[in-house]
Amino acid sequence: SVVVVGSANMDLVVATPVLPRPGETVLGEGFLAVPGGKGANQAVAAARAGADCHFLGAVGLDAFGDELKGCLAAAGVGLDGLRRVAGPSGVALIAVDAAAENLIVVAPGANAHFTGLDAGDRDLIAACDVLLCQLEIPLETVTQAALAARHGATTVVLNAAPARTLPDELLAAVDVLVVNQTEATMLAGLDGAGDAGDGLAPVNDVPLLLDALLARVPRVVLTLGAAGAAYAARDGERLEVGAPPVDAVDTTAAGDAFTGAFAVAWAQGRPVAEALRWACAAGGACASRWGASSSLPAQAEIDLLYDR
Ligand code: ADP
Repeated sequence: SVVVVGSANMDLVVATPVLPRPGETVLGEGFLAVPGGKGANQAVAAARAGADCHFLGAVGLDAFGDELKGCLAAAGVGLDGLRRVAGPSGVALIAVDAAAENLIVVAPGANAHFTGLDAGDRDLIAACDVLLCQLEIPLETVTQAALAARHGATTVVLNAAPARTLPDELLAAVDVLVVNQTEATMLAGLDGAGDAGDGLAPVNDVPLLLDALLARVPRVVLTLGAAGAAYAARDGERLEVGAPPVDAVDTTAAGDAFTGAFAVAWAQGRPVAEALRWACAAGGACASRWGASSSLPAQAEIDLLYDR
């Protein structure tokens, strides 16, 4: 079983011919409200990939909160640990132009108020095979969850996204770190851009990134977009797997599909090489369809691409 401790957001997406400049108003075209947030996406990804999956997170008492809860429930995610808190749910305001360039403002809302795990939360975490976290909720909550996992025999998988630097206390509790090249660059301290996630140049030297990160965590999974993923562990194991051949039309949530599937394969005790290839199949399947959470693949679809 997998337990995700993380964020849930409603993504409010408007397509527009051109993005507005400061002070400007433009007329957009289509509008979509889509359930998202890395935590909820990865919980849905894990459940669709076939895991018994639980989500610990917070949404508001508003209509978006109802919708986010409904989306997670429809995917079969266990919601005993979902909080309804006063104030708005997390929202992401997203404008996308004709060249797929975007502008995004996130109001964390309820996610920022997700603090203080209780005894029931800690028991659930300690009873699961894998704890999966990201960085869209308060760091103290992520750290508490990781410590609860260490109390049991639960493997801590941290998807360190969005990119930021992290305290040693949290990294010391991580079993497997999952990062893309931008996040890896930041965490490895190879760029001086501090906590600003955007606008830093990712390092492309895969062995260099893996070595730098192994100094901080025992196992690293590095996602490489269309090139697949790489793995390195302190025990000396190194692997690189290619992405399956797909026609990528929209890579939104591909990272969430990858991470959710990887956590499932790890919880099932599959060999690392197999887990990586299966996660790449999930990421590829997601990238081959338009949409974010709606394009997260089911187990049968991942298996099909995996076997090709
Ligand atoms: P993120 O989306 O988090 O920045 P990546 O771009 O590394 O992370 O993508 C995550 C995973 O999604 C990759 O490891 C791969 O499995 C899959 N993926 C992403 N882009 C493509 C693509 N163009 N073709 C096939 N698979 C892809």
